[in-house]
Amino acid sequence: MNVLFQHQTLGDLMAGFFDGTLPLKDLRKYGDTGIGTFHTFDGELTMLDGVIYQIKDSGKVTIADENGTTPYAAVADFKPDMRYEIDRPITLKKLRSVITGMVRSKNVFSVIRIDGHYPFVQTRAVSPQTKPYPRLIEAADGQEEFETYNVQGTAIGILTPDLFDGVSKGGFHCHFISDDRTFGGHIIDYIVDDATVQIQTIDAILQNFATNHEDFMQGEIDYTDLAEEMEIAEG
Ligand SMILES: [Zn+2]
Repeated sequence: MNVLFQHQTLGDLMAGFFDGTLPLKDLRKYGDTGIGTFHTFDGELTMLDGVIYQIKDSGKVTIADENGTTPYAAVADFKPDMRYEIDRPITLKKLRSVITGMVRSKNVFSVIRIDGHYPFVQTRAVSPQTKPYPRLIEAADGQEEFETYNVQGTAIGILTPDLFDGVSKGGFHCHFISDDRTFGGHIIDYIVDDATVQIQTIDAILQNFATNHEDFMQGEIDYTDLAEEMEIAEG
């Protein structure tokens, strides 16, 4: 069975639950491919072939500390069931519409991996926060943006059914890492011209909660403006 494991929800992250509540070594038990963030919101998490990379707001890319934790991540054991070859330049927007038309269903989650040559990539990385944590919409104000040109790399993404908007981000949520591991982050835009797209259809989701974390368990979480905030911060 193709299972997407998600620790906490994007909705809780939007509300400012930035404390890491799952050890990264535990996250790895549930998949080899995925996206997320780190304790205190310290950068973008990209998991590729079982290795967890941390892309900090300085733009620096490192292999994440084994002893680190995550407040939010979604991972799967990547076993693609569809492939698509790109052999001419295509924008992110156009490719997303191609993928939306290709997936077996818009009513289930899909995990997407795109390996190849990108003439242009624009990303961002969030900055670590201190307590009391702000809502994500405020924390996102301090994030840094990066651009690079003519890079070999991989985009890892999750396509979420609109029904789950709030639990995750309805639509695409994608992170990038270059082959030389010097560039990455949450994808804002790209052009890709020579690449392989692989898609995994997800059968089931395993939604994990931070039941060992009292702040979360006893917290009053304000989801009032969630949809609007997610559109601004994650759209
Ligand atoms: Zn992201």
